Amino acid sequence: MHPLCSEIIHILSGILPEQRPLPLHEPFFNGNESKYIQDCLKTRFVSSIGRYVSEFEQQLAAYTGAGDAVAVVNGTSALHIALHMAGAGTGDEVLLPALTFVATANAVSYCGATPHFIDSAPDGPNLDPEKLERYLDTHTKVKNGVCFNTKTEKPIRALVPVHIFGNPAPMTQVMEISRRFHLKVVEDAAESLGSFYNHQHTGTFGFAGILSFNGNKILTTGGGGAILFNDRKTAERARHLTTTAKITHPYRFTHDMTGYNYRMPNINAAMGCAQLEQLPGFLKSKQAVAEAYRNAFLPVKGVDMLSTPGNCRSNHWLNALLLSRPDRHLQNCILKETNTAGIHTRPVWTPLHHLPMYRLCPAMDLSNTDALSHRLINLPSSINLETRDNAS
Ligand SMILES: *Cc1c(COP(=O)(O)O)cnc(C)c1O
Repeated sequence: MHPLCSEIIHILSGILPEQRPLPLHEPFFNGNESKYIQDCLKTRFVSSIGRYVSEFEQQLAAYTGAGDAVAVVNGTSALHIALHMAGAGTGDEVLLPALTFVATANAVSYCGATPHFIDSAPDGPNLDPEKLERYLDTHTKVKNGVCFNTKTEKPIRALVPVHIFGNPAPMTQVMEISRRFHLKVVEDAAESLGSFYNHQHTGTFGFAGILSFNGNKILTTGGGGAILFNDRKTAERARHLTTTAKITHPYRFTHDMTGYNYRMPNINAAMGCAQLEQLPGFLKSKQAVAEAYRNAFLPVKGVDMLSTPGNCRSNHWLNALLLSRPDRHLQNCILKETNTAGIHTRPVWTPLHHLPMYRLCPAMDLSNTDALSHRLINLPSSINLETRDNAS
């Protein structure tokens, strides 16, 4: 076996609990989940009307500092609505990292627009702002307040920074670039509830930001998502659009546009309210797990834990090992040995420009992304993970 591979396996077995299989990320319910769900059943408000939905929205806005939050069925539908409202439509392009979950690109496609892939920073995991700005300088032109891709001649409407694994993207530069090139910013903060950039919550910088409450995220509602807006009027329009664009009336059904049935059900929001009460505790546990990994791998040459820039606070949603250089052989060895032993690890997503439906999309040089896909390995990161260094 590769000597570094056996060293890494040895360290992991030393700090991880003995439970097998040990999942990558498990949901954690230790609060009022049952109580609030029972309340939905008792009152029979289980669907898209009920007090928990608006309560959850208000609590999300209060926690993130957003002007308003609109709760929807999942993070993907949140992205769909946010991009649609940002003006992405047929014949347009939207800039997004090639290194993200497929939902980010799928939502662009649902709008009829084309994903346009941008590269990650050399040591990842987020977009590289300098490389992006240089690329836009040479490959786009702004005409009458619209940015055009000079090669495809299509308008580029929006830029989607993704806060990967809970690590905040460089939002100061992202916002500067978006102003220079007239791009609407829709932040994919699906993984970053509880992550802050310069003391400001991720997802609150641009036109809109989205959250996901899928079962594998830091906070779960079973399935769910939310759109964050600073502008309340825009949020109100989003709420209208996600509830079939129905005109409020005691008994008449009238709709003033093609809306969507994307409203989060009350039963999911009830779970969300219970989970949100526990978020500060979740973040503390996550911090402890991240520190245990960091301390354990600090003395090891050839590998680091993915780190957070100094002006940021990460929610440490998913911890990742970062090999010093791309090494398929070593990466495969670590993945195979851990998963065979019942320790669930995984490589980062297959970069989107390698997926059949996105192979021909416009893209800049993606060499950092390709290198990172052979450098990153996600490690078990559940909220209730009791690392031994932690327990001692
Ligand atoms: C989870 C996730 C989504 C999609 O959220 P769903 O609730 O699963 O639809 C979008 N983007 C990123 C980066 C994600 O991790």
